[in-house]
Amino acid sequence: QSSPIDSVISFIKSNNIKFVDLKFMDFPGQWQHFTIPISQFQADSFENGFGFDGSSIRGWKAINESDMLIIPDPTTMFVDPFIKAPTISLICDVYEPITKEKYGRCPRNIAQKAEAYLKSTGIADTAYFGPEAEFFVFDDVRFDSGPNYAFYQVDSNEGKWNSGREENPNLGYKPRFKEGYFPVPPTDQLVDLRNEMVLNLESLGIEVEAQHHEVASGGQCEIDMKFRPLLKAADQLLMFKYVVKNTAIKNGKTVTYMPKPIFGDNGSGMHVHTSLWLKGKPLFAGGGYAGLSDMALYFIGGLLKHAPSLLAITNPTTNSYKRLVPGFEAPVNLAYSSNNRSASIRIPYGNSPKAKRIEFRCPDPSANPYLAFAAILLAGLDGIQNRIDPGEPLDKDIYDLSPEELKDVPSTPESLGHALKALQDDHEYLLKGNVFTEDVINTWINYKINKELKPAALRPTPFEFEQYFDV
Ligand code: GLN
Ligand code: MG
Ligand code: MG
Ligand code: MG
Repeated sequence: QSSPIDSVISFIKSNNIKFVDLKFMDFPGQWQHFTIPISQFQADSFENGFGFDGSSIRGWKAINESDMLIIPDPTTMFVDPFIKAPTISLICDVYEPITKEKYGRCPRNIAQKAEAYLKSTGIADTAYFGPEAEFFVFDDVRFDSGPNYAFYQVDSNEGKWNSGREENPNLGYKPRFKEGYFPVPPTDQLVDLRNEMVLNLESLGIEVEAQHHEVASGGQCEIDMKFRPLLKAADQLLMFKYVVKNTAIKNGKTVTYMPKPIFGDNGSGMHVHTSLWLKGKPLFAGGGYAGLSDMALYFIGGLLKHAPSLLAITNPTTNSYKRLVPGFEAPVNLAYSSNNRSASIRIPYGNSPKAKRIEFRCPDPSANPYLAFAAILLAGLDGIQNRIDPGEPLDKDIYDLSPEELKDVPSTPESLGHALKALQDDHEYLLKGNVFTEDVINTWINYKINKELKPAALRPTPFEFEQYFDV
């Protein structure tokens, strides 16, 4: 059997590959890349790596210490369908150039440390993650001269909001408000586009379970990938976003993973299904509530306890908190329930022990998946290690409960600022196994406050124009 490095080298030769595209994850959560002509790529590239200027990458080095190194992971090779010349892509890890140690703020490294820490606890050897990243498809307006007001229009009508995208009368089979899930064509105009996305994903070796239109009328979609171990699931999520966005662009459309692009309509979540396994045996199935094991219930206890701080990582944008409001299938209260979509944690139906998992519904697709999956795992492990009681399940539609009934049910944080404050106060659980470090936590908080939260607060918004222009 040839090694992964040998396989890459022989694939390059036999397929006449001309370029190697090196991709790596930045701190906030966006793939970066640069490209190497094949003449510059050898087997020892997997040892020596390639240098780049780390000071231009968000949240990393200062200009006076800016050299960094990336080293490709040979097991991540795929043929890049969006680059014209025959090109393979490799996902890379970020290293310090002098010491050749893995860089502490490299998200992929944090995910690797989370997997290693899990093994070291002896609790489980594998954590599976199945993310459902929803997204919106819009017409490609990149070259339009004016602003696209459809995104901004504010319209309220006795508390019943519309998306600002409705015409009267609707002669075009547009999905009615909140009825995008999921009539057949011609109402669903995006089936061919999603199929093309699925074929591209499959060509990269990503297994897809289903694709469908989602609830929001403005072209909201979902494509579900099969669950994978933590690191692999995060790698695949980045490939997924890349494929979905680029397939859309090729078809004159744009895709956004913003959690709440349209006021008054459903937002995009990234529900995360997760379960722990040891030696090929599922650990979340048992005789407790909804067929869960004690371990799974403690895992839920950890997630609920740490949720306010955890959301600073799984819901990391100012826009994230515009999704976490009542009435749009997004969780607003920190509770768990079997098959209840208004709870933060849902236990999907199903009796097979292998399929027993929990669905954490808070996260959204603006998260950096390496950091998000690692943090979810650590919160759950903290619950197991400290036998944190998740309390009673909440099997009612939480949106319909009175304030009195809800008074003991904690809420998701109100804003990114609240979540960051919670992270400041509660992050011991993330430091276990040196997975996250104080440096990573502090850099994250300061980056989010100074680069996103404060600048957002300084800007006048369309709603302020509506409210205050005529004062
Ligand atoms: N879009 C919803 C959310 O924000 C989820 C809808 C669904 O998948 N049932 O989480
Ligand atoms: Mg789904
Ligand atoms: Mg969905
Ligand atoms: Mg779901």
